[in-house]
Amino acid sequence: MSLVVVGSMAFDALETPFGKTDKIVGGAATYISLSSSYFVKPVNVVSVVGGDFDQDHIALMHKRDISTEGVQVKENEKSFFWSGRYFNDMNSRETLATELNVLGDFDPIIPESYQGCEYLMLGNLAPQVQRTVIERLNERPKLVVMDTMNFWMDIALDELKETMAMVDVLSINDEEARQLSGDYSLVKAAKKIMAMGPKFLIIKKGEHGALLFNEDKVFFAPALPLEEVFDPTGAGDTFAGGFIGYLASCNDTSFESMKRAVIYGSAMASFCVEKFGTERLKNLTKEEIENRVQQFVNLVQFDTVLQ
Ligand code: AMP
Repeated sequence: MSLVVVGSMAFDALETPFGKTDKIVGGAATYISLSSSYFVKPVNVVSVVGGDFDQDHIALMHKRDISTEGVQVKENEKSFFWSGRYFNDMNSRETLATELNVLGDFDPIIPESYQGCEYLMLGNLAPQVQRTVIERLNERPKLVVMDTMNFWMDIALDELKETMAMVDVLSINDEEARQLSGDYSLVKAAKKIMAMGPKFLIIKKGEHGALLFNEDKVFFAPALPLEEVFDPTGAGDTFAGGFIGYLASCNDTSFESMKRAVIYGSAMASFCVEKFGTERLKNLTKEEIENRVQQFVNLVQFDTVLQ
């Protein structure tokens, strides 16, 4: 099954209680494509970078069978830049800087070879660009998953709602779900958000796992309790990459399949946070991933004795 991934490709500067990085490669499409490349090939990326982008990283993407044919290079401009600082609990962060640069007037181009894709992952990016990508595909994919963040809720809420109405699955974190719905209860928030369009909703809760909603059904996936969370940047995108990658690999979009996909997404995210940036996602093995998924199974499996 073929997968198209849209999203930012970026330079990030990060501060965590463990240390600080200068500009390192990040961005939603970067994390999503690396993560999904362990499940499906090729992964086709639509994005834009400046002439300053890291060529070694592009080479790594190619090595992992990630196509960058849809990545525009604006030679005389700068790549998107984001900087963030994590608080001690690593569950919350503040954005220190968002410099859109090349993303500011991004007009996505869909190469002919990407047409006919069955799975579309709309990673974090301006909602009007996410929408343009759906419109520029000749056929609607079998499944469209969208991720977004508070930044776009603050500055482009109407466009965000329009795009949301066109997708099957929305993936956001708990704070964003509360902001979007105006409800503190995540169950109430989920109902309101699903009424805005997406039939499925994933609410990510950092180290407290993720919830998957569909109609009246709910599924909960824990996050793996890790001794050390080094850098949570990209965990949400890595989750999304594992989620859609798994669904594409089995070509099954039922709720039961999505439950497994949420576990695969959580397993991929658990690798991501173990090192700074994309480091831990560069060289995973199938065996490592399956072992990690088994740890999730062991974590929640128990016997009941019926009284
Ligand atoms: P996550 O930790 O999964 O929420 O994603 C972090 C990544 O999102 C970073 O690598 C950033 O480069 C990227 N990012 C942050 N803000 C934005 C934004 N406004 N639009 C697109 N990508 C963003």
